[in-house]
Amino acid sequence: MHRQWWSEIIGNLKEICVNKMVSPTSKGQTNMRLNFDVIIIGAGVAGLYQLHLMRQLGLSVKSFEAGSGVGGTWYWNRYPGARFDSESWTYGYSFSKELMEEWDWQEHFSSQPENERYLNFVADKFNLREDIQFNAKVISAHYMEKDRYWSLTLEDGECYTSRFLITAIGILSAPTMPTIKGIDAFKGRWFHTYHWPKERINFEGKRIGIIGTGATAVQTIQEVAKNAGNLKVFQRSPNWCAPLHNDKISKKEMDEIRSRYNEILARCRETPGCYIHSTDPRNTLDTPPDEREKFWEELYASPGFGIWQGNFNDMLNDREANALASEFIAKKIRQRVNDPVIAEKLIPKNHGFGTRRVPLETNYYEVYNQNNVELIDINDTPIQTITHNGIQTTDCEHQLDMIIYATGFDAITGSFDRIDIQGIRGKKLKEAWEDGPQTYLGVFVQDFPNMLMSMGPHAGLGNYTRTAEYSVEWIAGLVQYANEKNITEVKATTEGVKDWTDYVLGLGEGLLQNEIGSWMTGVNKNVKGKEAPRIMRYSGGHPAFREHCDAIAKDGYKQLDLS
Ligand code: NAP
Repeated sequence: MHRQWWSEIIGNLKEICVNKMVSPTSKGQTNMRLNFDVIIIGAGVAGLYQLHLMRQLGLSVKSFEAGSGVGGTWYWNRYPGARFDSESWTYGYSFSKELMEEWDWQEHFSSQPENERYLNFVADKFNLREDIQFNAKVISAHYMEKDRYWSLTLEDGECYTSRFLITAIGILSAPTMPTIKGIDAFKGRWFHTYHWPKERINFEGKRIGIIGTGATAVQTIQEVAKNAGNLKVFQRSPNWCAPLHNDKISKKEMDEIRSRYNEILARCRETPGCYIHSTDPRNTLDTPPDEREKFWEELYASPGFGIWQGNFNDMLNDREANALASEFIAKKIRQRVNDPVIAEKLIPKNHGFGTRRVPLETNYYEVYNQNNVELIDINDTPIQTITHNGIQTTDCEHQLDMIIYATGFDAITGSFDRIDIQGIRGKKLKEAWEDGPQTYLGVFVQDFPNMLMSMGPHAGLGNYTRTAEYSVEWIAGLVQYANEKNITEVKATTEGVKDWTDYVLGLGEGLLQNEIGSWMTGVNKNVKGKEAPRIMRYSGGHPAFREHCDAIAKDGYKQLDLS
């Protein structure tokens, strides 16, 4: 529905805008020329498509990307074992039929090297590279209110101006190191999983320590354990993990999947998280015990997020239902881990199944049955310091050749906080969001006109590409509208921001997911001020989110302040 509406706009307006350079000459503005109509920060999944659409509209556009290549998340996260845990064929772009015809996914849950290849393929196919400046880290973005434009400064001191600033900086792109003393003292090699080197790292026979047990660590651990001499996992909080059940995709199977792309995309459009999985209409407690056990067994044996996104309707909002689902998974962990003491340590006690993002795994639990793997519960023996030789806990010094920090991200707002973003009257975004993000539709922030966030806080998130495509198209529609009408400033109203923020906070109340600290609730114990859970995401389901945003666009953006 939305795609059709968007294609019409592109069709009608393409000609109007070709080669039109913004020249801010209306009402009191000086007759100066800006470098670009639009600057996009980031050349990941959202940024690449945003660039493509801006160019299709004939706007002058530049993307600044901190990495030396495209891909964002799939450029940086090269750690061993990194892969999708949404089905590959639901994660690819859908905006180009030709692209979908040309690209064959090799695995149902594609690995990082393949994902990076895919995004490079996209960049080449649509000639996107020519408008991307790589190794270009944006350090500040200031709004010039008199002349209504953004002025950006890169790390190397270069400055650029544009009418619109579009942030496509991701939700998990501000990695954080633990606040443990002595990290630099370590004489071996150490990496944060996000900053994994491009060269191949050999673990053979090495003594390796890994800190963290989130989705990234789980993928890393199960891979590194294959040939590490010794792997010590320093765990603070276990997570509920479930089997991925990945498999290769044959040519024949890919052709079959391709023939169903319309159906697959339609399915993703109707589910709350834009995955192919959607909650079962039944309630846990209304379902007879043997029937629900059978259902859970089926889910546990099925690939992907079904067990999380396709579970009983009440699993994430009814404590009793959640406790039963958690007990089912706990039973599986006990079955898979030989040592009952270790099994208990791997079972979360502070949150229920699915209330944090569920890491998907392949033989993760069996890793702890291997002689070369040791689980160290740092609640029993806290880490005191990183030493020259390894990790010192209250128990002993663990001698290591390599330390892997799988310690996560300052999620959702962290990548904004790391840029000095200033709106009208020099208002700093970081300060404005000190008590939590406030946005309109997850796109606009009060007092930051012409800044449009692709996949911003309080937007509808889920299967990343599915939700990002929508976000990118909505923003492109607005930019196009502004150009057509010679509008030089777009901003949300005060009431708009207040109402949307209150609405999102209200929607999130009562959900078990919002009670527990995790990146999804903006918690990062390594970042000051981010210790308590907050509602960071719209939780009304993506179909409702789209309905809301579509209505605003169709109504000529009357709810915005356009001038
Ligand atoms: P995470 O879920 O935030 O996990 C970070 C881990 O590091 C946690 O176990 C945390 O423990 C631990 N940690 C942090 N600081 C520590 C410290 N000072 N001392 C000891 N432990 C510390 O981050 P992540 O694993 O990188 O995953 C983040 C998200 O990225 C995932 O949930 C997922 O959405 C996404 N991701 C996606 C994929 C995929 O699509 N395939 C793969 C990987 C990740 P506490 O829990 O106690 O804080």
